[in-house]
Amino acid sequence: MHIVKANYLISSPNIGLCPTADRPEYAFIGRSNVGKSSLINMLCAKQGLAKTSGTPGKTQLINHFELENAIANTNVRNKWYLVDLPGYGYAKVGKGQRKTWQKMIADYLQQRKTIMQVFILIDSRHTPQAIDIEFVNQLGEWQLPFSIVFTKSDKVQQQIVSANIKAFTTKLSETWEELPVHYITSAVKGRGGKEILTLIERLNNL
Ligand code: GDP
Repeated sequence: MHIVKANYLISSPNIGLCPTADRPEYAFIGRSNVGKSSLINMLCAKQGLAKTSGTPGKTQLINHFELENAIANTNVRNKWYLVDLPGYGYAKVGKGQRKTWQKMIADYLQQRKTIMQVFILIDSRHTPQAIDIEFVNQLGEWQLPFSIVFTKSDKVQQQIVSANIKAFTTKLSETWEELPVHYITSAVKGRGGKEILTLIERLNNL
């Protein structure tokens, strides 16, 4: 995909304040520090677009980015939204803030009709974490189309990445008949971004 525009648009505290739902939308979510900002910057080929922040869990807002890509051999541009959702599982966040987060995310994911795909990010360095499995199962209950993105694959040996992915998918197969598609990424090595953009392009053209 040839991206010709990638700009931050707006941060919204609830679905009611989000921009008009007039184009395909792709949401990214995962635990704090999973590498979400780095992945978004890699996909958009724009360093600093999403903040890679040292204070996980700080931004509790729905962040919209305006994307445009050129369609080959035409002057036509596809417009879509990339949405950076606040991460979950940050220990220092209090009960009240966690509840606000849960409501905001549940409302957004259940009511935003233009969501084409949710990308749930999982740190490939770790064995399956209950909070991630629970979130994947929640997406299933809400009947949202989603893919799993295993991040930071450059940080440990490839056998460990493979073993962790296997363990994660094995755990999922306890509740899922059909396993979701997954991607393996590294923002440092520039791995996996092209594949994710190919899926987005395909879904944009449906
Ligand atoms: P976020 O909190 O999910 O947005 O995570 P960030 O993108 O801010 O990343 C958290 C930390 O992990 C930062 O120090 C990043 O530099 C680092 N990081 C993110 N992605 C990768 C990756 O693919 N490889 C490596 N080695 N480090 C990464």
